[in-house]
This record gives sequence, C-alpha cells and structure tokens, in this order.
Amino acid sequence: MQIAEVIVDIPTRQTNNPYSYSIPENLSDQIQPGMRVQVPFGPRKVTGFVVGITDHSEFNGQLKNLSSLVDLSPVVTPELLALSHWMAARTFSFEINCLQTMLPGGMRTKFRKKLLANDSVRDAYPQIFHGENEVDYDRQHFDSRTIALILKLRRADKIQVHYELAHHSKPLLMKAYTNQLSAKALQAAISGVSKRAIAQRRLLLMLHEQPTRAFLRTELAQVGVGRSVIKTALEKGWVKQTNVRRNRNPFFQPVKKSLPLDLNDDQRVAVKTIDQAIEQQTDTTFLVEGVTGSGKTEVYLQAMAHALKIGKTALMLVPEITLTPQIVGRIRSRFGDQVAMLHSAMSNGERYDEWQRISSGQAKVVVGVRSAIFAPLKNIGLIIMDEEHDGSYKQTDDPRYQTRDVAKWRAAYNHCPVVLGSATPSLESRARAMKGVYHLITLPHRFNNHALPHVTVVDMKREIAHNHSILSKELATLIADRLVKKEQIILMLNRRGYSSFIMCRDCGYVPQCPNCDISLTMHKDTQTLNCHYCGHREPIPTVCPKCHSKRIRHYGVGSQQLEEQVKEQFPNARVLRMDVDTTRKKGSHEAIINQFGAHKADILLGTQMIAKGLDFPDVTLVGVLNADSSLQFPDFRSSERTFELLTQVSGRSGRADKTGEVIVQTFNPDHYAIQLAKTQDYEKFYQTEMRVRHLGKYPPYYYTIKITGNSPSEKQTAYEMHQIAKYLRNHLTDAAIVLGPTPKTIKRIDNRYYYQIIIKYRKEPALTQSLDTILTNYQSKQRHDFYIAIDNEPLDFM
Ligand code: ADP
Ligand code: ZN
Ligand code: ZN
Repeated sequence: MQIAEVIVDIPTRQTNNPYSYSIPENLSDQIQPGMRVQVPFGPRKVTGFVVGITDHSEFNGQLKNLSSLVDLSPVVTPELLALSHWMAARTFSFEINCLQTMLPGGMRTKFRKKLLANDSVRDAYPQIFHGENEVDYDRQHFDSRTIALILKLRRADKIQVHYELAHHSKPLLMKAYTNQLSAKALQAAISGVSKRAIAQRRLLLMLHEQPTRAFLRTELAQVGVGRSVIKTALEKGWVKQTNVRRNRNPFFQPVKKSLPLDLNDDQRVAVKTIDQAIEQQTDTTFLVEGVTGSGKTEVYLQAMAHALKIGKTALMLVPEITLTPQIVGRIRSRFGDQVAMLHSAMSNGERYDEWQRISSGQAKVVVGVRSAIFAPLKNIGLIIMDEEHDGSYKQTDDPRYQTRDVAKWRAAYNHCPVVLGSATPSLESRARAMKGVYHLITLPHRFNNHALPHVTVVDMKREIAHNHSILSKELATLIADRLVKKEQIILMLNRRGYSSFIMCRDCGYVPQCPNCDISLTMHKDTQTLNCHYCGHREPIPTVCPKCHSKRIRHYGVGSQQLEEQVKEQFPNARVLRMDVDTTRKKGSHEAIINQFGAHKADILLGTQMIAKGLDFPDVTLVGVLNADSSLQFPDFRSSERTFELLTQVSGRSGRADKTGEVIVQTFNPDHYAIQLAKTQDYEKFYQTEMRVRHLGKYPPYYYTIKITGNSPSEKQTAYEMHQIAKYLRNHLTDAAIVLGPTPKTIKRIDNRYYYQIIIKYRKEPALTQSLDTILTNYQSKQRHDFYIAIDNEPLDFM
C-alpha cells in the first residue's frame, strides 16, 4: 500500500508535521510529492500538500484514504518542498505557511483547472476530451479510472493543465498566424512582392525571421500589418490562422535588443571570478561592492549570460521592480523572451502566467522582488541579489524570512554561487566578507572614471534664521543654474520615519487614532486623516477639538507642498512629482521615469523611491531636503539607513560625462553618517559603525531575536511577556542578553497591546529548543486571546 505524507492546511504547532493517508489503489504511482490533495481531517475535509510517499507509516491505527486531488501535477518542486521544511524551522513558522508563500497568489485562492491537448491526444482519448482541445476538469466529474489516466498523460507531458483564476475565467485565446511556407517559398514570395506593398513585405520578413512563431493579430497590427494584409496572406496561403493562449504580458513596452558591453578591468575580473564559480558549481557567496555607477549591472548581466550559456538558469532579485524599471529594461534587452518577471504590482493572472512559464522551463531568467526567491526554476546556475542591503528583502509577516538566507540555501542545493551586490553593503554582509565567509569583489571606480559627485552639506539651523523656504539658498542657486544650462535636477524628500500630520498652532493638539497610539496622517487627496496601522479614517478638522482655535493645520512638508513651492520659486521649470499619490496607477511610475528620461521635465521631485537605481545622463544636481528624518528614527540601524540613502541618491548625479553636485540639507551636519556620505566613504563608515555596534552589542556582533506578544489587555500582555522573559532567563546561558519585556514604540494598535522581548546572543545551544517550547505552550493554550510571534534577525527593534 502506498502512503502519502501530507502537510495539512491548518497552521498550528500540532499540525506542523505530516499526517499519513493511504492512497487509493487506482491512484497509486500517480500521486507525486508537491501535489495538493483533499484529505479528511476530523469531521471536515482540508487541503494539504503531499510532501512524501512511503510504504509504511509510524501511525498504528487505521489510515484514512485521501479524498481527492487538487492538482494534476506537482505545484511545488522537490527542492522547494525541502526548502519549506528548513524555512519553517528557521523562521519559527509553520510549514504550511511556507508552502503557501511559495505559490503565486492566484493559486492560493480560487481557481479552476483546464486540460489542454493537441489534436492527436484529443482524438486518442475521447473519454477525456470529447473532441475538444480544451476541457474543464472540475465540471467533468471524471471517474477514478479516468483521473488515473489523466495523471499518467499529464506526467508524460501529453496533457497540459492550466489554472484559470475565477475572475479571469474569460479564456485568453487570441487570433494568431503562423507561417505555412518553406524557406525557399518564403524567399520567392519576398522577391516576388511589389516594393510598394510595404506591409506585405514586412510580414514576409517577419515570417522569414521566425518561421515557427505564432504572431498575434495585435502584434502584427502594431507594426502596420493590418486586417487587409492578413486577409491577403491567408488567401495566398502564406499563413494559417490559429488560436493561441495569450500570456498576460507584464511588460508594458517592447525593448530593443542590446549586446554585451566591453568590460573594463575591474568588471572583467569580477565576471571571470563569478563565471568560474558557476562552472565549478561551488556555492560561494560573493559580495560585489561597487560605488554607484561602477557598472555592477553589466557584471550581473554577463555572469547571467554565462550561466545560460552552459545550460543553466539564473535568478536575479531587486528590491522593488516598479522602482527600477531601468534595470528590468536592461535585462530584457539582453535576454529577451527568456525573462520572466515577478513582482507585487502584477495581477494574480499575470503572476500565474509568469510562474507557469518558469515552471515549464520556458523562462530561463527570472527577475523579481523578494518572493521571486521561490520561483520554481530548475537547474539554477546563479543567484543575484542587487542592493543586498535593502530592507525589503526581509519579510515582516509570517513567515519572517530574510531573502539572503533563502538564496544561500537554494545556492547550496543547486551548487551555484550567490552574488550580493551593493554600493553600501549591509554591515552583516561586509563583516562576513571581512572574515572570509563571503568572497569580496570590489569595483572601486565609476565607469569611465566619471568623478563622484561633489557633495555640500548645508546646516539648516543656520539657514532657518534668515530663510523660511524649504530650499536653502545654496540649493536654490544651483537649481537656477541648472535650469539655465538645461541640465536636470532631482529633489528628494526623505520620508522614512516621517509623517505629515496636523497640529493646533495654539495648544499643540495633534489628532490621534482612537484605536492606536499614533497620530493620524494627513491625506490631502481624500481630505481625510488616516491611521496607517488600523485603517481608521476621519475628516480633517477645521477647528481644534481641544481649544476650538481655527489655527489647526498641516505640519511638516509633503512632496505636494514641495512641488508647489518649487513651482512658485521657479515658474518656468517643468516639474514632475513621484510619490505614492502619483504612482498608484499601474504603469504610472514607468511613465514618469520615461518622461524624465526623455528630458521632458527639468525637475523630478519625490520621496525616497527616486533614490534607487535610476540612471539619467542629464542629471547634474541632486538635492536632499531633509536628511535627518531617517537619522532620528529610534532604531540601531538608523545611521546605516541614512548613509545608504544619501549615498544612493547622490549616485544619481553626474552619471555621464558631466560632473554632478549634491546638496544635503540637515540639522545635524556633523553626524558621521552625513559626513561620510558626503565623501561616499563606505570604508570609514563601516569602521565607525562597527565600533558603535560593538559597544551596543548589536548585529553583526550579536545575533538577535525579537518576540512580540499582544492581547486586548495591557495587563495581560505585560504579564505573559514577563513569564516568557523569565523562562528565557532560566533556560539560556548567562552570555545571552534578554531585554524587556517593554511596550513597543507604538504600544496600542487596533485596540491590542503590544510588548516585545529582544534576545541578543552569540552562541546559545538551547535557544531554538526554548523558543519552540514557548511557541508550543502559548499556542496550545491560546489563552485569553494572547498571541506571540518570533522574528529571527528582525530588521528593526521597534
Ligand atoms: P551600477 O549598477 O554599479 O550603479 P551601472 O551598471 O548602472 O552601475 O553602470 C553605470 C553606467 O556605466 C551605465 O550607464 C552603464 O551603461 C555604463 N557602463 C557600465 N559598464 C559599461 C561597459 N562595460 N561599457 C560601457 N558602458 C558601461
Ligand atoms: Zn488647539
Ligand atoms: Zn489606528
């Protein structure tokens, strides 16, 4: 008898191990690990993932049968099954949550399955296809014998399975045309067609170039091959009309093909070193540390090309794709249709299509954000994490994984190198490189030795005495200068840890959220005050609820206000604004970037989303309006974050042959993060910050764990957290530091009270065991609505 080991979809400690179910006789040998099934669980049926198949079970009683199949082929590869097991332990989460995280959104919710076959399979199996090329699996109520047959055909790749998302149930079939002529006949047709029949000629040339490809009607229309030409082509027998399943194309615009660039010496060494590791199949982690504009991206592209050349695939992660369309464009122009893209701004349908292309082996290069680390790529030859220091690589919800760790795990599994790239590596990565755990590769010079921009720090304490504008005199002078020279300007408002709220000028009253301990944020577009934590909204008051003064108004500077002021001061400048409000619509982010790139505007202003990865040759001035707001964040990484941000945004200036300038406005001109960002001296920053971390016993000298507990009663939260801290102090060695419990920076969110404990440690053999015990205890009791979460290596202590 065959037995399936199933992780059921019930996220609890008790169900975190597989349950055994017997496989019905007619399905034996057809069920594979990685498929989802329905199984009886107590009185109900639940979905679960098959994680293994065995012929014996530890379980002594009578095993229950599997009820039915959810998938007809595995949706999780053996590699990802193993990864989920490791990840659950590493992140103190449930294996089922890890498995769900790996699937594209659409497959976690409602979908229907369609079976697709070519004509011969269709005709050979009328009991499945009834003469159609496509049948709806879920409506057919196939008997078990037919299901077994379907599985067999699926495994032999004779049947394709497509998941149709409920709201995408419209079949995405489109008219397309394929070539019918032999190469010779094509040649003859090309020379035979009249010179004036431009569109006909174009069509023939396209057929000649890609004789096996199906061209969509919409595609042909775009290049001027319209209905009448297609009609002629059909009549002459040049093409045949077919229906093809259209992939929802996540790429907005076609790109031009690009060729590898000639590398400079530093780049060549970097590529060669990485290529060697790819070939030797070693899972080395490289840290590519290169100043902004040193040509890291070209190194990534050529190393990826090498992986493809030897028959492998490549995975490249970027912090936020919508923020870096230029990088995506460069990758697509090099690798064309082999690229699949995965990011959060895509619809479920688009993501599913891309996932399908990766899973089937069609896409060989994956570019994506954090979750793309779970792409079902096989035979990976290289994993790249660009801007490896970026905070978005850490997932803050369950499962709280750090992408870097997952990347290293997959590299070990695939025997391939990992490349971490940054101008400002995280201290953790740099420290590992110094210890020889990572292999450090540096690109110390800008490409073509373009000078780094000249940075001036403006002390706003002095400035404010005689100037009430958001723009300092220095900055305003340089803006005027660039406008005259027809060069471009980027202005950045640092909004990390900064919110725009309203305050009564007479009594100082600031409206607070009724459910949370935080002030409400002003939203000008909706004319409301919103809570960013619980979603509470209320109208903006016109009189102070406390003292009835009418002088209650907006406090702090928003990008909208900055735009108004810039336009007032420079009425002839063409200004573009990029922030959450102007980029909500799909594609609008790209549109702004393209417009600025085409020099259709003089000034691009916005929040830190303009700091990353943009490369505009005409930009020669960058202004940072308030460097401090990230500095005053109550977090031990605030200096690191500020240094990164300033270095990144400065790197936007003077990328081509014109030297760039940067103005940094700050109230803390002497802070080391600002002084060292001025000279882009990462080395010195690293040394200074490491001393600070050493003194404070922070990472990378110590590992950290954050335990957060919450309940509707503050007293209860505090009590339970004290019990946990006591338990930890009793079970860990004296070398471990257990801090707290303390209320979180925002203690109350949505009427629940949050406390936290921080553990700092170097070596604690009993740590994992103790934390597992805590989780199990608190979960089995689930007492009085008290919940805990454990974050391994949190990115903030707030
Ligand atoms: P980084 O990613 O390190 O910030 P980029 O890869 O964006 O740097 O390179 C900076 C600029 O130098 C880009 O405009 C890029 O096209 C150019 N560049 C990089 N490498 C080469 C090369 N080998 N030949 C020509 N131009 C290059
Ligand atoms: Zn008031
Ligand atoms: Zn709230």
